Amino acid sequence: MKKRTYVPKICSLLKADCGKIIKPEGRLEMTGKTHISCGFLIGTLAVNYYHPDLFNSITTVVLAVGGSMLPDICHTQSKIGRRFKFLSFIVRTLFGHRTFTHSLLFTLLMALLLTSIHTPEMYFTAFIGGMASHIILDMLTPRGVKLLYPLPLSVKLPIQFKTGGMVDLSLATAFTFGGTYVIFREVINQWLNQFITLPF
Ligand SMILES: [Zn+2]
Repeated sequence: MKKRTYVPKICSLLKADCGKIIKPEGRLEMTGKTHISCGFLIGTLAVNYYHPDLFNSITTVVLAVGGSMLPDICHTQSKIGRRFKFLSFIVRTLFGHRTFTHSLLFTLLMALLLTSIHTPEMYFTAFIGGMASHIILDMLTPRGVKLLYPLPLSVKLPIQFKTGGMVDLSLATAFTFGGTYVIFREVINQWLNQFITLPF
């Protein structure tokens, strides 16, 4: 008897979402992996600066990664958007994509919120640093961001590239290696010193 393979009709089940996945402008956005790896690097740098204990170190890195994902809450197909679908839907409906959540205004409001609940400086730095890294990375893409929202102005950096390609992958790899190096710096330097003499 001939075996029948069941292929789920994902696109017909999630018609609207599929449209978002395949539309060409999706390629103009920084991938989630790049944002997360940059947040990881920011978190490790904060840990390296403040020298907290293990629990606070892990919390700091997690907060930096969370901050680096937060601006894409306006995108229902982003990593954070899929996790908080309802909130993501509301933000997207109210403000649209890459507007309010990618602006100085939103960053400032988050900073005020964190200050009002007396967030420790290390956590504050990691979270806001993660958010800032997200916005800066998106400014490297052709679409830019509405940094000065509610002003309808797309802000980009002079150098831009299409994401999902080699540059994106290279950035994500570099951030991940950078963060790993910051964590294991002493061990790596000791190991390297056995072979070569480093100036630091
Ligand atoms: Zn974004």
